[in-house]
Amino acid sequence: MPSNDGSRSGFRVTLGLGGNVGDPRQAMAGALKALDADSLIEVEAVSRLYRTPPWGPVAQDWFLNCCALVRTTMQPLQLLEKCKGIEQTLKRQRIVRWGPRTIDIDILTFDDVSLEDERLTIPHPRMHDRGFVLLPLAEIAGDVRVRGRTVSDWSLECDRQGIEAVSDDGDWWRTS
Ligand code: AMP
Repeated sequence: MPSNDGSRSGFRVTLGLGGNVGDPRQAMAGALKALDADSLIEVEAVSRLYRTPPWGPVAQDWFLNCCALVRTTMQPLQLLEKCKGIEQTLKRQRIVRWGPRTIDIDILTFDDVSLEDERLTIPHPRMHDRGFVLLPLAEIAGDVRVRGRTVSDWSLECDRQGIEAVSDDGDWWRTS
């Protein structure tokens, strides 16, 4: 569990968001607004929006990705349930109104917590070798340490091929 109890200013948490079906920009903006609307969560910073090539063996559309830095007084599993609830709400809206759309919200780091649970692994086990996570994350939380190195350091070595920022700043979600 975290070394501070989160009761004063909350835990410092980083999140990775992405999607590649329908209107992922709108879905990610909706997710960030829903997180910020919770009285136990404050969105402190959001990265620029990035267009990124699909990762892994399955042929599919390009993704939009971003990262967020939040403060929360929630515990890790409580925040995971919150994120899953937001994903489900956005998926339900999508089925009824605009057809398929996916959004994925990952907890990347949670203060200084290391956790391996069947429901949740923190830090996220694959974040340190993924450019689509490290490049946006380095913009807002380069000092965060993962596996003994900072996010900034990891980001210098990652494969950045095809990854490009498509917003001017980190305010895109407020106006989407
Ligand atoms: P995926 O469909 O790949 O997004 O996987 C979602 C599942 O991964 C969730 O049901 C979580 O229980 C689990 N999970 C494990 N670690 C994490 C993490 N750090 N952030 C988000 N989900 C996680």
